[in-house]
Amino acid sequence: MSSDYEISDEENGYYDEDEMEVDFDDESASEIEVDGIGDDFKVAVRRERKVYDVDFTSLSQPEIEKIMQTDVDHISGIFGVEPAVAAQLLRHMDWNKEKLIEKYMDNASSVAVAAGVELPPREPTPPPPKASSSRLSSTGPQRTTRRSTAEHSKSSPKSKRTTPPVEEPKEFVCPICFDDTQTEFMALICEHKFCASCWKEYITSKVRTEAECTITCMAEDCNIVALDPFVQKALGDDKETWERYQELLVRQFVSCIPHLKFCPYPSCTYTVSCPAAATKSSLVTIVPIVTCGASNTHVFCFGCPIDSDHRPVVCAVAKMWLQKCRDDSETANWIKSNTKECSKCQSTIEKNGGCNHMTCKKCKYEFCWVCMGPWSEHGTAWYSCNRYDEKASVDARDAQTRSRASLERYLHYYNRWANHEQSAKLSMELYVKTEKKMEEMQITSELTWIQVQFMKKALDVVFRCRMTLKWTYAMAYYLASGNDKELFEDNQRDLERAVEELSELIEAPIDPETIMTLRQKVTDKTVYVQKRNEIMLEDTAKGYLEGRWKWDVTVEGFESD
Ligand SMILES: [Zn+2]
Ligand SMILES: [Zn+2]
Ligand SMILES: [Zn+2]
Ligand SMILES: [Zn+2]
Ligand SMILES: [Zn+2]
Ligand SMILES: [Zn+2]
Repeated sequence: MSSDYEISDEENGYYDEDEMEVDFDDESASEIEVDGIGDDFKVAVRRERKVYDVDFTSLSQPEIEKIMQTDVDHISGIFGVEPAVAAQLLRHMDWNKEKLIEKYMDNASSVAVAAGVELPPREPTPPPPKASSSRLSSTGPQRTTRRSTAEHSKSSPKSKRTTPPVEEPKEFVCPICFDDTQTEFMALICEHKFCASCWKEYITSKVRTEAECTITCMAEDCNIVALDPFVQKALGDDKETWERYQELLVRQFVSCIPHLKFCPYPSCTYTVSCPAAATKSSLVTIVPIVTCGASNTHVFCFGCPIDSDHRPVVCAVAKMWLQKCRDDSETANWIKSNTKECSKCQSTIEKNGGCNHMTCKKCKYEFCWVCMGPWSEHGTAWYSCNRYDEKASVDARDAQTRSRASLERYLHYYNRWANHEQSAKLSMELYVKTEKKMEEMQITSELTWIQVQFMKKALDVVFRCRMTLKWTYAMAYYLASGNDKELFEDNQRDLERAVEELSELIEAPIDPETIMTLRQKVTDKTVYVQKRNEIMLEDTAKGYLEGRWKWDVTVEGFESD
């Protein structure tokens, strides 16, 4: 049932917007596109780009494979090698075509050997054959002239290890499984033969378990790489592993190209291209939030590993904040009530037990838990601790207060950050309730399905704006005080107030009598909240471009002053 609704909603996306425009006849109304959280992808095409948006394109796996194929064909044409060889050469050179061409022109053989597509040149005295190759040398018929030296080694004293008589070529046994019922054998250009089932098992494990797409020969110390046609042949009817292998190849390619990034969502195979965020220095002025083409819920940052929209805060600051939260949050509250900081070295001291004579584990400073003064002044009788006003104790408590103040400051921002996160989650739960409410509204009022969409839109806007608010607290925590920070916090306050008001409206009970008024109120407020969010994001984005934001810590990429 709900999926039916979703479909009708999608189909009517345009009517939706038109209707909003008619209703308000306000230029901001046309900017509302809240068909889904992060549903900017389709919309982005027809609206003009905002200063806080980044240009990007989404590419499917076949589209990336096409780009890869173009490079492969190009190299294959220039070098006169098989496409599979060209592909391996490119992978080896991290898909840097220019570098590959330059190196290959300089010394083709050394590049080919390093890439594992050519055997290394023979040494004057061949090394003793490995167990596997010595067995191999007994299989006369398969040998090519390339192996002539290996053959030669047979007559050397070291070939004593080649125990099976040379005259029994039919009795080749796979040197891995020693299963003499195996009849199918495969070898790379190095001619290290193994049975087909060992190859299959080996390649499957490389691909599936190790997520490895450069698969070298099974023989010890052999660096010859299994090329794609070999891998495909070895995998036989295991289509799934072959597909996984191809995905790994695409991932390897994408990871080599700075303006490409693979979608981080589980089992998604889309790639996003974002040239504007390809350099580290670009991340000082933009927050490259992108969405892949597979789903409009696949929102992630191109510049860092955060897989959600962390605007308005830049990657480096977002990262610092998350790290701080990881380090501090869990323990912050506990620390607040159960510990104090050593007056000497500021390390945190936990009080366990009733004794107030504390000794810092780190610097061995001895002090009184009650008055924070040095223990030496307490003599041996702490219970007569009446030294609250003594200078040493006062200084120690001041230091403690400062340290507490920094924790209090952090908790001020952290609690608001966590609250928006929590509320955003709750509003997603509210979504289900809202759906029900919307159904009710259709029954109890004259409103049609499209007309009751205002609830869903409002909820989407609340969710998005809470995400913005959440990150504004991370930003405010690090912003250096001053006029710019004050203006930032003014915008933050205005947005926060508007969001809370809208949240309240959405949760209000529905009365058929007043539903038209409610609809008007909610829709008006939605427009307003959207506008406030726009102002918040736009102003911060401009601030980055103007270099207006100053931090009270050193932030990667920003000049400190
Ligand atoms: Zn085997
Ligand atoms: Zn080999
Ligand atoms: Zn995706
Ligand atoms: Zn980021
Ligand atoms: Zn200490
Ligand atoms: Zn004391």
